[in-house]
Amino acid sequence: MLHKASAVKRILEREWMGFLMDLQMNAALGKGYRSKAQKIRVMSESWVGGNMFCPCCGNPHIFELKNNEPVADMKCDHCGGIFELKSKEGRVGKKINDGAYATMIERITSATNPELFVMQYSADYTVTDLILVPKFFFVPQIIEKRKPLAPTARRAGWTGCNILYAEIPQQGKISVIKNGIMKSQREVVENYARIKKLETANMNVRSWLFDVLNCVNRIGSNEFCLQEVYAYTEILQKRHINNHNVEAKIRQQLQFLRDKGFIEFLGGGHYKKRF
Ligand SMILES: [Zn+2]
Repeated sequence: MLHKASAVKRILEREWMGFLMDLQMNAALGKGYRSKAQKIRVMSESWVGGNMFCPCCGNPHIFELKNNEPVADMKCDHCGGIFELKSKEGRVGKKINDGAYATMIERITSATNPELFVMQYSADYTVTDLILVPKFFFVPQIIEKRKPLAPTARRAGWTGCNILYAEIPQQGKISVIKNGIMKSQREVVENYARIKKLETANMNVRSWLFDVLNCVNRIGSNEFCLQEVYAYTEILQKRHINNHNVEAKIRQQLQFLRDKGFIEFLGGGHYKKRF
């Protein structure tokens, strides 16, 4: 009994440590860089490298990759997970600016796609929110091609991309820090493990799953019926023009979500959310 009580105390202490974690980035690291983007990049990567555990496996540390790796900023040497970090002052909007379009499309369909950290910070460089988007939530449909740079630009013709952040289902945005409060490591790792059940390598399967999940998320109530999901048939048809049986596809995704424990079948075409 005593042993159990001290174990609980240790967990509470560790969780309390999370609340007390220093969320202030080191502004001195930004000195010597001309652009604000470069300053923030150095400061935010250093903060994550110095403070974050690995959300995928619970390893207490992830480390910065210093050698200008093409796609990743950080790595966990326990599970081998790699991470990209994007940060923004204030709230992240609907889109996140990223690198070259062609590289991004190639990368999200490869095995070496990094997990994405999305950081929000305040004007005094304090981290307010940190969200992890698992790599298996990326589909080509959420990568938007930007206009090529003008012929007069230094990198004329170069085409960048935006990540359509708002189109990623809420289940693919795992909160690590929310409103200045760090979640416990255990909670984050458990959430990641649960969400990982939705991982699928096939891009077509993945995009159907997340499209239907977005529809289910838009239904306001906790319990819903099949007809409410069918209401999105036309929208889904536009996104999957080569498919000729959208309703069957919807039912297939609902079964998958049921099998993975994200919804419950109540019978007679009625369902209950379990997230
Ligand atoms: Zn790890």
